Amino acid sequence: MAKVIVSVKRVVDYNVKVRVKSDGTGVDVANVKMSMNPFDEIAVEEAVRLKEAGLVTEVIAVSAGVAQAQETLRMALAIGADRAILIESGEELQPLAVAKLLKALVDKEQPQLIILGKQAIDDDSNQTGQMLAALANLPQATFASKLVIADSKATVSREVDGGAETLTVTLPAVVTTDLRLNEPRYVTLPNMMKAKKKPLETVKPEDLGVEVTPRLKTLKITEPRKRSAGVMVQDVKALVEKLNTEAKVL
Ligand code: AMP
Repeated sequence: MAKVIVSVKRVVDYNVKVRVKSDGTGVDVANVKMSMNPFDEIAVEEAVRLKEAGLVTEVIAVSAGVAQAQETLRMALAIGADRAILIESGEELQPLAVAKLLKALVDKEQPQLIILGKQAIDDDSNQTGQMLAALANLPQATFASKLVIADSKATVSREVDGGAETLTVTLPAVVTTDLRLNEPRYVTLPNMMKAKKKPLETVKPEDLGVEVTPRLKTLKITEPRKRSAGVMVQDVKALVEKLNTEAKVL
């Protein structure tokens, strides 16, 4: 198999407790630690493992967003991707726009496999992979918890309600990663240094002929309701009493 494209999004680090801006227009990202979307780290790890197993010749990491997304791409290169493409844009890039950008790169690079995260932890959309598959007219296997490549086919296990489903798609195909697919490796300093020398190309959406204007408008973002502190009860009798009279669930 020839090339694999993996998409990596720069998002607010999963350890950061995000704060909603006081005017409710969005989340405050100034001076907040940003990292690679965790599902994308799994996507890069999987692609690199395929390369290490000799099943893939080249891993290309792609990110769409502001110039700082270069850091995210360097991380992908440090995990083991061979080269990177930044699609630079200061616009808010919604899933349909990202899917169109990726489709343009798929047309250009002709990869056999495109691996995306199942969702970005900032917008929780869970749309980009599915939209890309539709736009590029490729088969898709979403939420992969196991991926086996053989004979121009990908066999994917996915967790579904009450069990696991296994399906086979013919390559080229789109696969999105679930949490249990693999455990990404720790990135070592020497690999970080090596990543600095790997090629990173920057293109603009216009270069790919893609119009990225947002289609959806966020009306308001609000903090979740504060939860009040719990109380300790003395014994089961007191618990039943409270469930009965206060929570009224019995
Ligand atoms: P979403 O549909 O927004 O939940 O994102 C699903 C997946 O699409 C992510 O895990 C990424 O692999 C990919 N993706 C979404 N937005 C971007 C972006 N701006 N740059 C690169 N990949 C992205």
